[in-house]
Amino acid sequence: MGYKYVLSADRSQLSNYRGNFLFGFLSCGPAKASPEPIYSMVCPTKDTYDDVTGELVLAPVGLRRIQGALEKAFGPGSVVAQHPFMLEKVIDENTRVVGLTEMSPLGIGTVDTAISWKNDNWNRKWFVRLMRQLKELKRRFHFKVVVGGPGAWQLLNPFTDYLRWQGTPIGQMATKFRRAVKPFSTKLNAGIDDWVREDLGVDHVVEGEADVVAPEIFEKIEGGDAPEYIRLLTNSIRSVDDIPEIKRGTPTGSVEIMRGCGRGCDFCAPNLRAKRDFPVDRVVREAGVNIRMGHDAVWLLSEELTLYGCDNRDKVPNKEAILDLYMALKAAGAKKIGCTHWTFAGVCAAPDLIRRLSEINDLRNEWMGVQPGLEWISPRMVRKFMPYKTKPYSPEEYPEVVREAIKIMNVNHYYPAITLVVGHPDEQDDEVDMTTQFIDELSNREGIHGIFAPLLYVDYYRPERSMDYDMMNEHHWRLYYTAWKHNAKEFSQRIWLATQSFGPLSRLVTVVGTHILNFYILRFLKSEYKRRFGKVPDWMTV
Ligand code: SF4
Repeated sequence: MGYKYVLSADRSQLSNYRGNFLFGFLSCGPAKASPEPIYSMVCPTKDTYDDVTGELVLAPVGLRRIQGALEKAFGPGSVVAQHPFMLEKVIDENTRVVGLTEMSPLGIGTVDTAISWKNDNWNRKWFVRLMRQLKELKRRFHFKVVVGGPGAWQLLNPFTDYLRWQGTPIGQMATKFRRAVKPFSTKLNAGIDDWVREDLGVDHVVEGEADVVAPEIFEKIEGGDAPEYIRLLTNSIRSVDDIPEIKRGTPTGSVEIMRGCGRGCDFCAPNLRAKRDFPVDRVVREAGVNIRMGHDAVWLLSEELTLYGCDNRDKVPNKEAILDLYMALKAAGAKKIGCTHWTFAGVCAAPDLIRRLSEINDLRNEWMGVQPGLEWISPRMVRKFMPYKTKPYSPEEYPEVVREAIKIMNVNHYYPAITLVVGHPDEQDDEVDMTTQFIDELSNREGIHGIFAPLLYVDYYRPERSMDYDMMNEHHWRLYYTAWKHNAKEFSQRIWLATQSFGPLSRLVTVVGTHILNFYILRFLKSEYKRRFGKVPDWMTV
């Protein structure tokens, strides 16, 4: 018999990524560069579900929270978290609502755009495939589909009309259904696009934190009383105690330690949420679920680890709170404890903390990835759009802070994937050049270890202000190319080490594939530049 409520996600989010979340970014890259057998080798999905029932053994944290809320309200027999390949096992005439947690359903997040250019990527391919499959099941069983999660905004106008305007493959798919309204609306989140509703089969989109109100939303959807677009009030959850506790496994041992960030950068979506910390005992209990399943590496989900437990205005890291957290996780059986994000300022302000974290993880002979955001280097831009990101330092000190923090990370075997923002509308050409020169120095003079992720600026309020490849001028191109040239060098030097957990054949294929990909990326960028500006400039040939 089927379940009343079925939760799932597209395949791109359902892998343990061989224990390294950075491999998950393959889903953001062009699908043609990683055909399905290669994709499945790097991001296998077999270990995320029971191959008899299809029930998820590992599921994204957000999905687990909703599952917890529904189970509490309606009982465990009412809801299941199911792998998308085996949905027909749990959907039948009893099914009322299928809920999907989506990270980047149309593959137009900032990282997608940076890596896949305008090509189809795995994020959108898996989502579209899932929706086609659900549409078939819907015809037979008449349930509703609701999509939430951090990427739900992509299904709303005006972003979908922006896609049509861009003319990417997914935009063309939308245009076949309906042409873009021009000029497209600049009103934020006007509603679900009719292509998304009628062709893809999404009935409702939820934006915001649904952990607490999920049962109410599902009941309303079932009763036909819910609006198509459900926008939840930001920060309606004041206490993390109200957030359902996780009782089942999550990929890469991920566990939430914070919500929101607290540094208040002007352009940043997570910043819309107030900063809340999960207490140590709660984190340990949730991490313990994965540890008991045999996953002894824990990844801490936060926007900014160095602000965990910090409540001072200067944002000086609370080293004791962070060390307490790490030590408690270690005592609970975690062998490696990684974190997704931290800032250069936080690292620079607490070098002894970073050294201790490295010692706790015993990183002497291996490296651990982390994502700090540099964004841009111009003090004017820093002061205007992210003044608290440099605290406890001043915006003028930012270049030195970044340099020093990278040194601290590298010496302690932390490997940064450093984000850059390309094409903020307020940024002047000479300011773009400052960032280019800065990363060129880091790459060539200082020989840092790490990669740069140049992300095109996305304006969540007015998409027409977002940067597009066709809008990039020579200065943006130089920044973009400098970042990728550095990355190609790093990938070539590091891929052997990064694939040490692979089998011999998989390792060989991935290493050879990476070298070919490097060659392809740089050649592709040169040809795209030439197509736009008529020649390949000197700085692309040296
Ligand atoms: S530090 Fe990072 S996560 Fe925090 S507000 Fe700034 S950009 Fe957002």
